[in-house]
Amino acid sequence: MSTRVDCVVIGAGVIGLACARALAHAGREVLILEAADTFGTGISSRSSEVIHAGLYYPASSLRARLCRPGREALYAWCAERHIPHQRIGKLVVATSAAQLPALDQIARQARDNGVTGLQRLDAAEARALEPALHCEGALLSPDTGIVDSHALMLSLLADAQAAGAVLATHAPVESMACGIDGHLLQVGGADPMRLQATRVINAAGLGAIPLARRMHGFPASLIPTARYARGNYFALQGRSPFTHLIYPVPESAGLGVHLTLDLGGQARFGPDVEWVGAPSYQVDPDRAEAFYPAVRRYWPGLPDGALTPAYAGVRPKIHGPDEPAADFMLLGPQAHGLPGLVQLFGIESPGLTSCLALADAVRDALG
Ligand SMILES: Cc1cc2nc3c(=O)[nH]c(=O)nc-3n(C[C@H](O)[C@H](O)[C@H](O)COP(=O)(O)OP(=O)(O)OC[C@H]3O[C@@H](n4cnc5c(N)ncnc54)[C@H](O)[C@@H]3O)c2cc1C
Repeated sequence: MSTRVDCVVIGAGVIGLACARALAHAGREVLILEAADTFGTGISSRSSEVIHAGLYYPASSLRARLCRPGREALYAWCAERHIPHQRIGKLVVATSAAQLPALDQIARQARDNGVTGLQRLDAAEARALEPALHCEGALLSPDTGIVDSHALMLSLLADAQAAGAVLATHAPVESMACGIDGHLLQVGGADPMRLQATRVINAAGLGAIPLARRMHGFPASLIPTARYARGNYFALQGRSPFTHLIYPVPESAGLGVHLTLDLGGQARFGPDVEWVGAPSYQVDPDRAEAFYPAVRRYWPGLPDGALTPAYAGVRPKIHGPDEPAADFMLLGPQAHGLPGLVQLFGIESPGLTSCLALADAVRDALG
C-alpha cells in the first residue's frame, strides 16, 4: 500500500524550503521529507551567509540569471519578515598592480549580469573606507549583504506551513521508481512508508546525486559525478578592523580567502578550497598556515596567532578541480522527459542568495 501525495520536496535546506513555499502558494499539497531530525542542518547551516550581488558568473548562466532577482527578492523578504540582515557592502581588492585588470574584468562581467551601482576605487579611496586595508585598487559592491540563514529558513518553513505544507523529519528517501503517471518513493527512518507522488523535487543538497542514482527509470547519463570541495573557516580573535566584507580577486573553484562579518560584527576568514573524497567537517588547524599569508596580502596587520579554527562547509560540486566552474543544474521534465520531476544538482554558492528565484524556476519547470 502506498499513500498518495501531490508534491514531495526532498530536503529541508534553504532550497527545499523555498521550493516547498513556492509550490504551496501555487496551490499544491506539499510534503517535505527531511532525513535529519530537523530542517536546515546541511549545507545551508555552514555557509558564509552572504547575500551576493551577482558579479562573477557568466551572463547566460543560471547562477547569474537567478542571483540578481534572487538577491532583490531576498532583501524584500527579509525586510517584510524582519529577518536579521544588513546590506553591508563588499570590497573586491587587487593587492598588486598586476591584479588591477582583473577588477576591470569583474566590473565588465557584473555589468553584463545587470548588476548596477558598482564603484571602482583607487587605493586611497579604498583606504578612506577601510583604513586597515592594503590594496592597489578595489571595486565596491554596495548591494552585497549578510543574512541570518537560520532565521531565513525558519521564515520559509513557517510560510510554507501557513500555506499548507507539511514537514516530516527522520524521513530519508531511500529510493524512487520514476513513472509517467507519478513516482513511487521508498522512505526509511523510524516509520518507513511508500508514497506515490505526482511531483517530486530532489533538493537533497549533498545527497541529491547519490539519491538520483537510486531513482530507477531516471536516465543515468544525465546524472553528473558528485565532487566535494570543503571550505574551511577561521575566526578572528578580537575586534574586526573592517566594516565591509573584503574579497581578494577570485581564485579557481572559490572566491579566495575572504573576510566576512556576521550580524554581530564578528569576522571570519574563508572558505578556502579543499577537495575531499566525501563530506566531512573537521577543520585542520594547520590550514591556518596558508590563511595568514593570504589574508596579509590585504590586511598586513593581521596579528600572529589571531586565527582559530571555526567551522567547515562542503560545496556540492559537479566539476573537478581542473575543470571550469559548473553552473547550477536544474533538470526538469523538458530535460529528461519524466513528468513532474525536478532534480537539482550542484547548488553551491550563490544558492542561499538565489533560493527564492530558484524556487520560482522549479515551480515553472514543473508546469
Ligand atoms: C562553504 C560554503 C559557503 C557558502 N556561502 C554562501 C554564501 O555566502 N552565499 C550564498 O548565496 N550561498 C552560499 N553557499 C551556497 C549555499 O549555502 C547553498 O547553495 C545552499 O545552502 C544549498 O541548500 P540546499 O537546500 O540545496 O542544501 P542543504 O542545506 O544541504 O539541504 C539539503 C537537505 O537534504 C537532506 N537530505 C539529503 N539526502 C536526503 C534524502 N535522501 N532524503 C531526505 N532528505 C535528504 C539533508 O539532510 C539536508 O537537510 C555556500 C556554500 C558553502 C558550502
